[in-house]
This record gives sequence, C-alpha cells and structure tokens, in this order.
Amino acid sequence: MKPILDYHNHTILCGHAIGEPFEYVEAALKQGLKEIGFSDHAPLVSHEDPTVTMSFEQLPRYHQMIEEVKSRYAESDIVIRVGIEADFIPGYEEKTRTIVEGYPYDFVIGSVHFIGDFPFDNPKHKDRLKTDDINQVFRDYNVLLRQSAKSGMFDIMAHIDLVKKFGDKPTEDLSDDFRETAKAFKEAGVAVEINSSGLRKPVQEIYPSLAVLKILAETEIPITFGSDSHAPGDVGADFDKALELAKQAGYREYVAFEKRQIVKRIAL
Ligand SMILES: [Zn+2]
Ligand SMILES: [Zn+2]
Repeated sequence: MKPILDYHNHTILCGHAIGEPFEYVEAALKQGLKEIGFSDHAPLVSHEDPTVTMSFEQLPRYHQMIEEVKSRYAESDIVIRVGIEADFIPGYEEKTRTIVEGYPYDFVIGSVHFIGDFPFDNPKHKDRLKTDDINQVFRDYNVLLRQSAKSGMFDIMAHIDLVKKFGDKPTEDLSDDFRETAKAFKEAGVAVEINSSGLRKPVQEIYPSLAVLKILAETEIPITFGSDSHAPGDVGADFDKALELAKQAGYREYVAFEKRQIVKRIAL
C-alpha cells in the first residue's frame, strides 16, 4: 500500500532540481498517484542564491509552468496541485507573507533551513554539526519550528527533524521539546508531512523519525506525504515505507489540501 498523493515536488527553477513538470506528472502516474503537488522553493527573503531558490522575478514563470502542465493533463485522472515551500526566517515574515499570499495556492509548506546564519542542511556547512552542541541545534531548530507554525503563514510543516540529515542525532532525550512543538502545531492548526527524502540522505531515515511521529499522532496533528523530489525519478519514492511508518506511529488517515484547506481525509 502507498499514499495516493505526493505534495513535495520541485522544479528546475530552484537551480538544484532536474526535469520538466510533465515528467514529474508522468512519474506520478506511473506510481499510481492520484494527486501531485508542486512545491518549489519560494524566493529566499533574506538573500539571493540561484542554486537554492528561484528569484522573485521567476515566480510568475513558476505559476505559468504549473498552469501549463495542469492544462496538459486536464483530461487525465491525476489532480495537480500548486503549492510552494517557503523558508521561515525570523524578521522577514512580512516579505514571506507577501509571497505566500500573492498567489492562490492549494497549500504552503513551511521549512526551516536556517538557524540564524547557519544553513545546517547545506553539505558545505555540515561540519558545524560536529562542533556545535547537537542537542542545542535540535532545540534551536524546534524553537524556529514553533515560531513558523505560529506565524500562520504555513499549512504543512516540512521535514521536521531535518537536523539529522547527515546522521547527527540528539544524544539526549528531546521528547519534551518535540511535544512542545507538537502542541504549537496543534494550536496553529498546521499539518506535518512525512518526507521520504531522508532515505536518500546520509541519515537514511524518513523525516520525522518514528519517535517524533508518535508524538504528533498523540497530539492529533494531521499528516500529508511528500517525496521532496528534485528529479522525476524521486516522485513517490519509498512511499510504501512512509505509509508503514505512519501506521506504526498510530495514524489511521492522512489529509488532502485544496485552496489551503483540508478537503479530504484518506484512510491509511
Ligand atoms: Zn531543494
Ligand atoms: Zn523541498
């Protein structure tokens, strides 16, 4: 069994993905998916980096690309959703809000990729995870997750234990921290994605871990699924494992979004 939707797919505009949108849709069809959502990296609000995100000038092009692929598959059974993955960077909330409210999205994915000036998931900076106090990095990350949920800008929180990407795990029990984060998610009404891309990274684990997912399940945080594909071949990758993990954590259903609302609950 596999989830029928994949809400986390990138485009060439981010500068580190390959393939045309139609190739992602073809891959989704081949995987038997009923819904594919594009959610490319929104323009960075703090600085420009063409290897990380599209520029502000490219935003209309992004929407044009998705519109084109939508009409190409208008007769097909697959539903194509338009989303965006926006970074949460404190101090830039208004600029971020302008982006996420500037177009009629089906969902907005909120991501934390920066802790202060530390782009902790960037391979170029990963050595810092060896020297900094790893438990503190996880705690700081959790604080940002809570702030991003509270900002009200996002519908789905992405890969919520991304700090582990290169295999660096907390050495202390941080359950209380994640419990507090889950509480903040509940209050903010956000969902969390089960992101299979961690299996393609050194950690070789889905985001979030089973332990964290159990906390989310206890707190009744809705879930969605995303492959975080940066190539057509990654669409729906390891979704059988992602579904199994959700069940193991105690989930019985996942949700589908349209126009930034949960419109469907699908049994696992
Ligand atoms: Zn990316
Ligand atoms: Zn992504």
